[in-house]
Amino acid sequence: MSRHFDFLAIGGGSGGLAAAQRAAMHGAKAAVIESHRLGGTCVNVGCVPKKVMWYAAQLAHAIEDAPGYGFDVKCNGHDWDQLRRRRDAYIERLNGIYASNLERRDVTLIRGRARFTGPREVVVDGEHYTADHIVIAVGGMPLVPQIDGCDLGITSDGFFELDHCPGEVAVVGAGYIAVELAGMFAALGARTSLYIRYDRVLRNFDEMLSERLTTELQNSGIEVVKHCNIARLSGQRSRIEIFDRDDRAIGEVDTVVWAVGRAPATDGLGLEHTGAETTVRGCVVTDEFQSTSVDGLYAIGDVTGRAELTPVAIAAGRRLADRLFGGQPDRRLDYGCIPTVVFSHPAIGTVGLTEAEAREQYGDDEVKIYKSDFKPMYHQLTEHQQRAVMKLIVVGAQERIVGCHTIGPGSDEMMQGFAVAVRMGATKRDFDDTIAIHPTSAEEFVTMT
Ligand code: FAD
Ligand code: NDP
Repeated sequence: MSRHFDFLAIGGGSGGLAAAQRAAMHGAKAAVIESHRLGGTCVNVGCVPKKVMWYAAQLAHAIEDAPGYGFDVKCNGHDWDQLRRRRDAYIERLNGIYASNLERRDVTLIRGRARFTGPREVVVDGEHYTADHIVIAVGGMPLVPQIDGCDLGITSDGFFELDHCPGEVAVVGAGYIAVELAGMFAALGARTSLYIRYDRVLRNFDEMLSERLTTELQNSGIEVVKHCNIARLSGQRSRIEIFDRDDRAIGEVDTVVWAVGRAPATDGLGLEHTGAETTVRGCVVTDEFQSTSVDGLYAIGDVTGRAELTPVAIAAGRRLADRLFGGQPDRRLDYGCIPTVVFSHPAIGTVGLTEAEAREQYGDDEVKIYKSDFKPMYHQLTEHQQRAVMKLIVVGAQERIVGCHTIGPGSDEMMQGFAVAVRMGATKRDFDDTIAIHPTSAEEFVTMT
């Protein structure tokens, strides 16, 4: 005997929860299957605990800057374990809130690991469930390079389990997670090195951001080890030696963190029983409506390998439910123009095309760049100096804004509003005609010449 639902979400993370709750709001009989803690990556080992650590790092920087503002500050150290416990208690509260939200919205929560036995049938702990519509929302997991000694390293999941600040840490990778974790480690007192394969971090961001952040990481005391391919690790967990491809020892630390990307969490999911198409990386292929190659089977969020961000998973899930149960047959997520923030130190905010993409898409003659590179007022009085740099990329005679990028203090809170404007098709003239808010860094975006 199997239980039947109108809508079944596999995965109780950002995407699955959002989709199931929206489906239930539209009157569907909905369920979520979750094998671990509710909230998924974002709440448990992603955005939320990461942002807590980022706030701690921001405070560490503020304490360092305080003498510039007349404070005689004595900092008696930082208790990482206390912060971890407070952070984890907060997350536990969130787990509870997610569970009661499901209850309140009449969404059935099935605890356990789901495995497909057919295109629209799954088994969880021996119980069979069927549904008219099933959405795969299983997210992803950190990648670990399969080299000798790789298990000596931890991943971002392990970062959140650390009960102390490492003395010396090597972060390997050049993406979001690598730069964010490196920044937090360094601010909270670890001697930090960042091992990257090329000469700069965040290579798929606008070059201005990528170059500036690489410089800022170095200015903040992080050793950026460039052009480096790690071939093996050796030693024990507390003393790890790092070797390159020529078997040269290129570092010795007590903690190595792999931050080299993530893979879809489809192992053991039984996708082969559905016939759904996957990419070489194992991501589930969907069309623009989140539909897989199989009728009644959909995928959202990180498992699709597109724009692996919480709000994207949520938006895709809600739109899917609106389409299936809310009488909105054309509802779908537009994957263009997705704003994003990197919680580095300083933070990066970005929306739209990079300069290279704009030139490729529109041609050099159509593209014009406005840029502002300045020392924010806050740093006029501090010993540690950071600059901010902002760029607007406009196209055509109308000077429509197709890219908006910033790195510097406050960039994290700045981008959301500008993203609305860019999405609405704002032109440079619209920005010029907007009265500046003074004194802020954001005003640079409306005063560029
Ligand atoms: P997930 O949230 O990963 O949820 C998938 C769920 O499915 C999990 O709970 C998992 O246990 C469950 N599951 C898997 N397989 C099964 C199965 N077979 N049966 C039952 N359940 C299963 N994004 C941002 O927008 N901002 C940030 O600041 C940010 N910071 C991040 C920091 C880190 C360190 C990481 C790792 C990610 C961060 N992200 C951030 C990305 C964000 O967390 C993901 O994009 C988002 O969580 C994806 O949601 P999802 O629903 O696709 O998957
Ligand atoms: P990313 O895809 O962002 O970056 C991984 C990078 O690591 C690659 O781009 C590559 O850069 C480098 N790399 C790959 N393999 C190796 C290797 N063997 N050795 C050294 N470096 C390597 O992945 P992350 O894991 O950082 O994050 C996953 C996703 O999670 C992000 O893409 C983002 O969507 C999301 N996320 C979002 C955050 C936010 O919104 N603030 C924060 C954290 C994660 P190169 O080619 O230059 O070597």
